[in-house]
Amino acid sequence: MNETLLQGFEWYLPADGLFWKKVKELAPSFRHMGITGIWLPPAYKGSAGADDVGYGVYDMYDLGEFDQKGTVRTKYGTKQEYLSAVHALQKEGIAVIADIVMNHRMGGDEKEVISAAEENGCDRTADVSCDQKITAWTKFTFPGRKGKYDPFVWDHTCFDGTDWDENVHHAAVYRFHGKTWDEDVDPDNGNYDYLMGCDLDLSSAKVQEEMKQWGHWYMDTVHPDALRLDAVKHMSWHFVEDWINDMRSYAGKDLWAVGEYWNGDLSRLLAYLGNNHRCMSLFDVCLHYKLQQASSSNGDVDLSTLFDNTLVSADPMHAVTFVDNHDTQPGQALESFVQGWFKQAAYACILLREAGLPCVFWGDLYGIPHDRIPAVRGLARLIKLREQYGYGKQDDYLDDRDCIGWVRHGDEEHPDGYAVVLTDRDASAKCMHAGCEHAGEIYIDILENCHDKVTVNQDGNAIFPVEAGSVSVWMPEKCSQDLLHIAL
Ligand code: CA
Repeated sequence: MNETLLQGFEWYLPADGLFWKKVKELAPSFRHMGITGIWLPPAYKGSAGADDVGYGVYDMYDLGEFDQKGTVRTKYGTKQEYLSAVHALQKEGIAVIADIVMNHRMGGDEKEVISAAEENGCDRTADVSCDQKITAWTKFTFPGRKGKYDPFVWDHTCFDGTDWDENVHHAAVYRFHGKTWDEDVDPDNGNYDYLMGCDLDLSSAKVQEEMKQWGHWYMDTVHPDALRLDAVKHMSWHFVEDWINDMRSYAGKDLWAVGEYWNGDLSRLLAYLGNNHRCMSLFDVCLHYKLQQASSSNGDVDLSTLFDNTLVSADPMHAVTFVDNHDTQPGQALESFVQGWFKQAAYACILLREAGLPCVFWGDLYGIPHDRIPAVRGLARLIKLREQYGYGKQDDYLDDRDCIGWVRHGDEEHPDGYAVVLTDRDASAKCMHAGCEHAGEIYIDILENCHDKVTVNQDGNAIFPVEAGSVSVWMPEKCSQDLLHIAL
């Protein structure tokens, strides 16, 4: 069966502590929908307590269990509710993909006076000051947890640098005396080891050991099926590969993993995959930017090159395709939201093609109430269509700058297939070969954007229309009933 992932959150979910309960309740509906894996948000206590989305990592051993940062629960609920949601998903046969954030820590419990040099933010290989004394929140004692599960205390020796001098209230990139940035990282800004907070020194043996020990505890406690690794371009790739291999050997299973390497330059993604011996997949940031560009260029992009220079074209077995995520949605750090009119077409491009493992964004499936953004119309139908009909040979018609299409021919078990046609300009049509076995059959657009009916001719060809700035997904009318019952 075709796999479809769901990014199981968006940035502005209500911080009411009810989310794990909601996920548990929705578990059967995810399965019915055709979702095979869910990426859940980071489950540990962040520095912003009950408001933290999960990326401001404070204590990775606190999954909503200890009174820390003003709250026992996290934004999403308590540890028990989390474990219960994970169990409910797994009971439905849905793989749980855990979000692992190992690049940085925030919200230290105590200050330390440290000798550090201020770095040029745009070139982290250049110091703009000599070593000076700064006062930084680098000591993490976790007073609410009192050493339960692990007595490890973090201090400045575990970090390469930070971004705040409490003494003079100055924000900058500070590198601690005697430390060097990890070199096997993305080369932007001279060296992109530093992202935010207290940056873990991943070349330190005690830090490596602690992250493995935590990983073992997490595997024993949560039993995730797969991992999503945050911010890998800011982390030593040697460490990441070593850590994943250690988790696989500890868990005794081939834990699938996907990394967030946020760079639209395909050569960077390919270099990373090569360096890490393809031990994980990467999100196809290149395709995201191409979809976003197509949605905001008034029809000026050349759709025939839409998939050129994308990870899904270059290394489909290691590409997780997506349209948007919690960072690209409006108001977020990497805002580059695919515009509404093109969303259906963008989802057709990730869900209805052979290559790549698609990841649907919660905010597209259910909408983003915070910004009054509605759910993408017809998305549930496209997910179901992928599950039931997205098989067999694919013929591409990526032959026109304004209107492209493709046909999936199905296989023995799923013989019906479909034909997709999309345009970023005026209404158009495309002659495509549905297959001689479909001669005489009537096709309809399962998205109901086009209300015509198309008859396949005796040669198995048909002219499939599409409305202006739209996408139509044509399939035999005789098999469309179940899909038409899914609300648009
Ligand atoms: Ca780093």
